Amino acid sequence: MVSDKPGTVQIRDVVHVVRKPNGDVDCLVGFMFDISERKKQEEQLQKLQRQLEEYSYKDGLTGIANRRLFDDFYQREWLNAIRTQKPLSLILIDLDYFKQYNDLNGHVIGDTCLRQIAKSLESCCTRPRDLVARFGGEEFAWILPETNEAAAAVMADRIMDAVRAARLPHKASAVSELVTLSMGVKTIIPSDLDNPMQFLDQVDKNLYVAKRQGRNRYCAA
Ligand code: GH3
Ligand code: MG
Ligand code: MG
Repeated sequence: MVSDKPGTVQIRDVVHVVRKPNGDVDCLVGFMFDISERKKQEEQLQKLQRQLEEYSYKDGLTGIANRRLFDDFYQREWLNAIRTQKPLSLILIDLDYFKQYNDLNGHVIGDTCLRQIAKSLESCCTRPRDLVARFGGEEFAWILPETNEAAAAVMADRIMDAVRAARLPHKASAVSELVTLSMGVKTIIPSDLDNPMQFLDQVDKNLYVAKRQGRNRYCAA
């Protein structure tokens, strides 16, 4: 860490031992190099690298985790669940009638709505190992490690409550005057024979069951 104190410099100190022909030490010759500028540049580069890493895992619109982080996290938690044989739950979320929301309000207000939804979702996150991410467009996803069916249902209820509490008006929705969402919820204790993409597909099927059943609900079949 380079000190910000005025007048402080970073020094690289090099000492050469000068020997007599018989090998005895004659004298020491020292050099000091001012490397403050180089250190500053290194720190700036490290900061930039950290920022780049952060941005590559962050959704640009909402500021929550992006699909890339979701994929990494999901793969890791899937392997963890195989190893520990503890249940892993997934929730896929899709906003209801969001195309109509955009058509009526415009894309900019649509974007603001997505940010508000992301905030509401994040407020439901109570365990550090849970991850909520923007999955794509107007879809979000939760990974809930060490979470069984009952606990996943509690989470789904909490998400419904949080979005209801945000009271975001949706004048073009056929199911409510407020923005609502539908969810697919599912739990698995995976073995080596299971496939994480197939499981994701099953959760997605549940989401579409929730849509077909009338939206503004979750399906955890
Ligand atoms: P359903 O209830 O069946 O989910 O209907 P829907 O209209 O929400 O579904 P559909 O998939 O047909 O439309 C999703 C819409 O989400 C399309 C697009 O206008 C909107 N959308 C996707 N990504 C963004 C985004 O980044 N910003 C905004 N404002 N809108 C987005
Ligand atoms: Mg969609
Ligand atoms: Mg939708």
